[in-house]
Amino acid sequence: MGRELKKSGALRLERVRIAVGRMTAVEPESLRFCFEACVKDTPMDGARLDIVDVPVTGRCSRCTEEFRMDDLSSPCPACGASSIVRLTGTELKVVSISAA
Ligand SMILES: [Zn+2]
Repeated sequence: MGRELKKSGALRLERVRIAVGRMTAVEPESLRFCFEACVKDTPMDGARLDIVDVPVTGRCSRCTEEFRMDDLSSPCPACGASSIVRLTGTELKVVSISAA
């Protein structure tokens, strides 16, 4: 039994991948700093944090064109409609975790 516990304790997380949408106003560098502070002295200590920058994209509710929104007030590039449904850009989530 003691051996089993030791075995599971040997599992170390190697890499954590997090998707951060542009709309979240989360600074990748401060996220990295928090991550390192949080994982210290845990099995995740030393794990690498990969931050995936997710652009803001939207879909036109008139012609269903999907496009990247660098400017949130920009109209649909295909038909010029201003009724846009936002698709991505607000996520803040763990995409994958890999263990060593
Ligand atoms: Zn359109």
